[in-house]
Amino acid sequence: KHIDFQTSKNELNNKVILVTGAGSGIGRQAAITYAQHGAEVILLGKTTKKLEAVYDEIVEAGYKEPSIIPLDLKGATVKNYQDMASTIISEYGKLDGLLNNASILGALSPLQHVDEGTFDDVMKVNFKGTFFLTQALIPALKLAPNASVVFTSSGVGKKGRAFWGAYAFSKFATEGLMQTMADEFENTNIRTNCVNPGATKTNMRARAYPSEDVRKLKLPEQLMPSYLYLMSDESKDVNGQSLDVQPK
Ligand code: NDP
Repeated sequence: KHIDFQTSKNELNNKVILVTGAGSGIGRQAAITYAQHGAEVILLGKTTKKLEAVYDEIVEAGYKEPSIIPLDLKGATVKNYQDMASTIISEYGKLDGLLNNASILGALSPLQHVDEGTFDDVMKVNFKGTFFLTQALIPALKLAPNASVVFTSSGVGKKGRAFWGAYAFSKFATEGLMQTMADEFENTNIRTNCVNPGATKTNMRARAYPSEDVRKLKLPEQLMPSYLYLMSDESKDVNGQSLDVQPK
């Protein structure tokens, strides 16, 4: 049902939604789609110029003005996340949605060739940074009537696959984080789920499969019914799920 979710233009009115990795790919499309449905979006990402381009698109379309948080999940400290969370509470008073979408692929290689630097970078961005960002935002999420936390998983976060190395480990860890958080916050205002976008035409996919025929791939736009569903009150009783959102 989430794959065919249809909603009104104002479904996300009065909601404040933070999207990580909002400068490109699926995160960019999700941020624009949330704004299109009435949300105030907070665009977080590494490259300020990309975030500014998404900001301009949202403003030019006449949606609510977003804000920008340039932040590198690789270098950020717990203090950085806490300061960010305090600013969000003072500016918006709450956070209704958190789409943890930013990730890096690292290098695909046999396990014997996984180097420590790549391992650390992938785990830091995809897992550790994502966790401490989420941890810092719990007080803001508690202030929303119904808060939705979404982590981004992958097929290789549910079934291991040769050569996917640290990226696969980071996505398994993400599934574990989601389950732990969902259980801890069961019967509260905060629900936690994973989304697995499936093969989608983005820069990351092109790096992983440089020679495939991209015409066969879904576009980020095609995933948006599920991304909207997870942020709308329609999913307020959905907790601890890992949803595959690729339409057939
Ligand atoms: P993209 O590479 O297009 O987008 C990733 C985003 O994450 C970019 O905006 C990037 O910003 C941001 N990001 C990367 N590193 C950092 C960092 N250190 N700090 C802050 N932001 C960072 O990938 P997709 O859109 O494809 O991926 C979105 C999510 O979907 C990821 O979690 C990915 O693992 C997952 N996924 C994607 C699939 C696919 O087929 N596309 C399949 C399965 C899962 P910047 O460009 O500024 O570095």
